[in-house]
Amino acid sequence: METKLAVPIAARNIDQAGEQIKSARTAGADILELRTDYLENLNLDLVKKLIADVKNTSDKKLPIIVTCRDKRQGGAIDYPQKLRVDILAAALKAGAEFIDFEYENFISIEGQEKIRLALSQSSRGRLILSTHNFETKFDNIGKLYRKILNVCPIAIPKLIYVANHINDCFEAFDLLHQTSAERIIFCMGAGGLISRILAKKLGCFLTFASIDELNATAPGQLTIKNLKGLYRFDCIDTQTQLYGVIADPVGHSLSPAIHNACFDDKQMNNLYLPLLVEGGRQDFDSFLHHALMRKWLNFRGFSVTIPHKQNALAYVRVSRGYVEPLAQKIGAANTLLVGPDGKLEAYNTDYAGALDAITTGMKISRAKLNGLPVAVFGAGGVSRAIVAGLTDAGAQIKIYNRTIEKAQNLAAEFNCEFAPLDDLKSLEAKLLINCTSIGMHPNVEATPVPKEFLKRGMTIFDTVYNPAETLLLKDAKKKRIKTIDGISMFVNQAMAQFKLFTDTDGNPDLMRKVVCDLLPAE
Ligand code: NAP
Repeated sequence: METKLAVPIAARNIDQAGEQIKSARTAGADILELRTDYLENLNLDLVKKLIADVKNTSDKKLPIIVTCRDKRQGGAIDYPQKLRVDILAAALKAGAEFIDFEYENFISIEGQEKIRLALSQSSRGRLILSTHNFETKFDNIGKLYRKILNVCPIAIPKLIYVANHINDCFEAFDLLHQTSAERIIFCMGAGGLISRILAKKLGCFLTFASIDELNATAPGQLTIKNLKGLYRFDCIDTQTQLYGVIADPVGHSLSPAIHNACFDDKQMNNLYLPLLVEGGRQDFDSFLHHALMRKWLNFRGFSVTIPHKQNALAYVRVSRGYVEPLAQKIGAANTLLVGPDGKLEAYNTDYAGALDAITTGMKISRAKLNGLPVAVFGAGGVSRAIVAGLTDAGAQIKIYNRTIEKAQNLAAEFNCEFAPLDDLKSLEAKLLINCTSIGMHPNVEATPVPKEFLKRGMTIFDTVYNPAETLLLKDAKKKRIKTIDGISMFVNQAMAQFKLFTDTDGNPDLMRKVVCDLLPAE
């Protein structure tokens, strides 16, 4: 069963509805859901006219779901039960292919009779019996599913709940996996976002997407543009292999866009998801456990970023998987691979990405890093990966940081020198690397190193990639000093991940273009 893309039409009047329907058609909707509870001055004639307008178009005929949602189940305007039932009955008569009615109302009131009668008089109209939990998971989703089908075996059950954490999605996935009839099951909220995309992989009858952010009718609903463009909706099938970035927050990550663009470029049946894993190590462990124990989900690899890089390393160590020696030394993994036997491998592509950016930018081999005097600004996660990689290659490093204890600890661990961030009198380096967030959007007027300390013969590498050209790099360019930008490192680490994930090379030019297109214009 091919999952359909349903687009809600949530308009206040018939003109607005017409505009929305046009946009939904253009964007590629498979089904229109007329949310009549949004219409002001709702009456039967209004709904009949709306249906007739959709049916009489010369464009592709789209099936219609008519919904008049009870306010207690997320409806917009609080219309009385009798009117809502009359609207659904009239919609069937007017040719709507589906009506959506609340299961709780269907079993408890006289409306059931009217709905059943209207269904029996309609040649093709179908009933969606829906139930929503806007607070949390259902107590027993499997039991509720069976109850709905017991009450009306010909109905399409629709069970929607808020996932307060991504780990809440797995019950919805299990129910989809265990059943094969037409059914609609997914989760709302930021934690439920992936369930709206994976609905297609798991054979859900439909999933919803909005015309734009303004017209979303439920928390966490994606736009059609994102679902189809960013998340490759049209390519997803039961065989699709899954990847994703585990992070918190994850909304601004560029990784889904670049990896999915490369999967598209190579026509691979792979999908890369944003995996919002909130909480600490326990939540991270629980997510991986849930994701990996369900082999049918087919997760093959993960990017891992703040705040879970250490958790990722610990997970693979405990599960006795393979840990790349330098990832071990850095104490953090940003890439996890899932082998065919389910065994995990942990890598760190941050240091490799940075080292490749440096050697390409300076036009030298890795061997030439041996003995190179380097000034590293910052003593956080990125600095740690780069310091580990550069000391491994034999570079002579001095670490400058605002919090001197952190510089001291990092320097002690990797046998480097250290100094306070503003102690620049003695700055003598061939390569200067900014690993602080100074100069990052929106503080673009800041620089970690005033321009008078930048000298010809140096190479300046800024790991900050938003903006692509920081003040530090602008100052260096004005003095005709060689520069390397943060996008190079970002693209290199993504290239290394792509290679680990797929055993093929990604397209670096495409990755850079995607990153540049997504970054805010300066
Ligand atoms: P982190 O662990 O939080 O470390 C932040 C570093 O920046 C610390 O050394 C911190 O100094 C310093 N810092 C922050 N604000 C400062 C300020 N106002 N004045 C002086 N020092 C300041 O972060 P991270 O993960 O290492 O990331 C650092 C930067 O790397 C990010 O901002 C990002 O732009 C860049 N990055 C680039 C890539 C890439 O692929 N190109 C990937 C990831 C990150 P204290 O120790 O004193 O707090």
